[in-house]
Amino acid sequence: MKILSVNCGSSSLKFQAYEMPEEKVLIQGLFERIGIDGSCYTITINGEKTTKEVDLPDHQVAVDYLTKELLENKVVSSLDEIEGVGHRVVAGGDQFDRTTVINDEVLQAIDALSKLAPLHNPAAVIGIKAFQKAIPNAIATAVFDTAFHQTMPKENYLYPVPMNWYTEYAVRRYGAHGTSHQYISERVNEILGRKDTKVITCHVGNGGSISAVLNGKCINTSMGFTPNAGIMMGSRSGDIDVTLATYMMEQTGMSPKEIDHALNKESGLLAVSGISSDARDIEAGINEGNENCKLAQKMYVNRIRDYIAKYYVELGGCDAIVFTAGLGENSILTRKQIMNALAPLGVVLDEKANEIRGVEALVSAKDSSIPCYVIPTDEEVMIARDTYALAK
Ligand code: ADP
Repeated sequence: MKILSVNCGSSSLKFQAYEMPEEKVLIQGLFERIGIDGSCYTITINGEKTTKEVDLPDHQVAVDYLTKELLENKVVSSLDEIEGVGHRVVAGGDQFDRTTVINDEVLQAIDALSKLAPLHNPAAVIGIKAFQKAIPNAIATAVFDTAFHQTMPKENYLYPVPMNWYTEYAVRRYGAHGTSHQYISERVNEILGRKDTKVITCHVGNGGSISAVLNGKCINTSMGFTPNAGIMMGSRSGDIDVTLATYMMEQTGMSPKEIDHALNKESGLLAVSGISSDARDIEAGINEGNENCKLAQKMYVNRIRDYIAKYYVELGGCDAIVFTAGLGENSILTRKQIMNALAPLGVVLDEKANEIRGVEALVSAKDSSIPCYVIPTDEEVMIARDTYALAK
């Protein structure tokens, strides 16, 4: 069965076509700068990548090019062969705790949840509609970034704030990157050969979050009502004293929008290093002796350490720590510093084993109290798996 896995951003569309259940990738591609000058798309098939510069005024036009490529590259002989299209949706609120077949009601609910993800859910809605038009016979599913975190107990998802904020305004912890946390926690359980596990999953990229996963179910996660909670990130502050926001508004006359921008786009590694939000630039800065980069890296690592330690206690121990995403998969330095910072828990780094990027590996030493793994994430295959299960 052929399944499409789709991730729509406000100006982009990423997709992969799979043969399921084999999980064989047939074709993948990325449409960029949709609705902006200089739009283009890249298609990769049999390891060969081609880029085409085309006018992409909206997502519908991108989907039309996509279906044309599927036919021209003989991925399908007719679009009816695509039996399921799975869409990544950022915010599922507390209505959606699993992947759901999209009907009119579900589509309306996703649209209404745009208040929780104003940049992302509207793009998903546009993408869903465009595919419904182009491939009307395929079932469409919504795979929510927040669904995996819906198993958190109330004491972990509630904030100690006036309760009508929760009951009337839906203010609570939702988390993010759920599909990735689920993928790596399931994979590490396969490696460990059991399901009754205590796992700490670290999705550390430009954005980042840490989760505590007990017996395959998320019990806590570091992102909150929005993605600007938890660890320090590329350009996000992560956890701060929230009163900083109102104080700075009073001191400077900044608007809520400007504060939001400062905390999401001008903070984190970027703010402290003064040079970049990108971990590669920070590492280069450290190698050149840049003190601000060293400080940024120290703050960054300490905050990840703190969450892992907190979840270790909350889980009552830990069977595995897993690193994934841009830094988790590729930053040898960041992994090394995090693992060394966890020495009080008995974590021991295997310096040589840690010298890897982008591949699955055990990176802790034999005598480490907790095995630490790198597992490259694969959100697309999770979307395809769920969609296949529902299409079947
Ligand atoms: P996003 O949250 O945008 O999906 P990614 O998961 O792609 O982010 O992660 C991007 C981050 O990963 C960047 O900070 C980048 O510097 C970092 N990264 C990627 N490759 C490396 C590398 N080889 N060494 C260190 N950091 C890396």
